[in-house]
Amino acid sequence: MKTVVKFGGSSLASARQFKKVGDIIRSDKSRRYVIPSAPGKRNDKDEKVTDMLYQCYDAASQGRSYKKILEKIIARYQEIIDGLDLNLNMDHEFQRIEEDFLAKKGRDYAASRGEYLNGMVMANYLGYEFIDAAEVIFFDENGSFLAEATNTELAERLATADKAVIPGFYGSAPDGSIRTFSRGGSDVTGSIVARAIHADLYENWTDVSGFLVADPRIVPDPQVIETITYKELRELSYMGASVLHEDAIFPVREEGIPIHIRNTNKPEDKGTLIVENTCRKPRYTVTGIAGKKGFCSVFIEKAMMNGEVGFGRKVLEVFEKQGISFEHMPSGIDTMTVFVHQTEFIQHEQSVISGIHRAVQPDLIDLESDMALIAVVGRGMKGNRGTAARIFAALSHARINIKMIDQGSSETNIIVGVKNDDFERAIKAVYDIFITAEL
Ligand code: ADP
Ligand code: ASP
Ligand code: MG
Repeated sequence: MKTVVKFGGSSLASARQFKKVGDIIRSDKSRRYVIPSAPGKRNDKDEKVTDMLYQCYDAASQGRSYKKILEKIIARYQEIIDGLDLNLNMDHEFQRIEEDFLAKKGRDYAASRGEYLNGMVMANYLGYEFIDAAEVIFFDENGSFLAEATNTELAERLATADKAVIPGFYGSAPDGSIRTFSRGGSDVTGSIVARAIHADLYENWTDVSGFLVADPRIVPDPQVIETITYKELRELSYMGASVLHEDAIFPVREEGIPIHIRNTNKPEDKGTLIVENTCRKPRYTVTGIAGKKGFCSVFIEKAMMNGEVGFGRKVLEVFEKQGISFEHMPSGIDTMTVFVHQTEFIQHEQSVISGIHRAVQPDLIDLESDMALIAVVGRGMKGNRGTAARIFAALSHARINIKMIDQGSSETNIIVGVKNDDFERAIKAVYDIFITAEL
């Protein structure tokens, strides 16, 4: 049996956390490939090493003073090395990093050092081989991940490594420069490694006991999801449930490898199993609820719109020309509404309005800002009538005005639009009607 284990930042924030991780790895012989993140926060007020590296690089590359923050970063690693009693000196690594920062090797390079250094510490601590992700994970010159080239190289390299540590989050481009995935990207590395070695399981260890039905910062003590499908998870993580990077599904999906979310601080907890498909009945109609703030809706009305061939395309082309992607587009007989990210839209607002006038001569264009979108996701919704009605009832009971409702074509997803200010209350209300009421 081969298991890939990825540990997130908070699982590796201190020597104490490293010891927990060591115990977890040593308690199961199949845990042979380890993907560490950079050290994260030790408490609420602490800083993530990745954030400190960005700050340090920005200062160094712009000629501002950076020594203090660099010292802080070095101290974070030293605390771990000392606490674990390791015989490891990283002075030359830090010297090189400082030189590279001054030589402006790039923000991605800077951020990647968090994982690179933590990987070295981890390999030393476990007695596993260290494999620099730059040698096995590839991006193209535009920073897009090269899945197949990576898979071939990684499979070949790992065939000769019985136990290895591969730092998460980064890889290299054809010119040798370092590139990273977007934030939280160590999850993606773990998935890539799992695919390359045909792992039986990809364990993703974090600071919560699994994927929770709702964000614990909004709903106190939410239920843990026992089993969730890739598809449900993708919908939820795309809509802000940040436990797992939204792209982490793709590599393991190629091989149907399950992902198991576990809690480093409570290894006895069951966690959440993420699978391609399952016969297991979900416990509740709704598997999870997630959402994001900061949207803007563009409402377009024109009598007989439905009869006008190409109307939707012409409208969307206006957004496309301005480089704006749209999130949702519910439509009626004479109306359509396009939901866009407010920050992206605001810069091009007037060009979009005039563009739509020229393209389709609408009767009315109305804008509404500061909107939030909430995704209510569940494979159990297909077989259960009245889900939308229950959402309506819960929100109206909480006196929340629903701005939009869109049932995704997948039938596993209903999207609700509310004002930003109602966002948290709306999530709580939906949670209560589907989960608290069914407990
Ligand atoms: P790591 O550093 O281990 O990668 P992350 O911070 O990326 O961990 O993800 C775990 C965090 O995600 C949790 O601490 C929690 O605050 C947050 N979170 C948001 N939504 C959810 C959810 N639905 N279930 C569990 N955690 C969630
Ligand atoms: N350290 C990186 C970040 O903070 C990547 C990760 O943790 O997955 O985003
Ligand atoms: Mg993460």
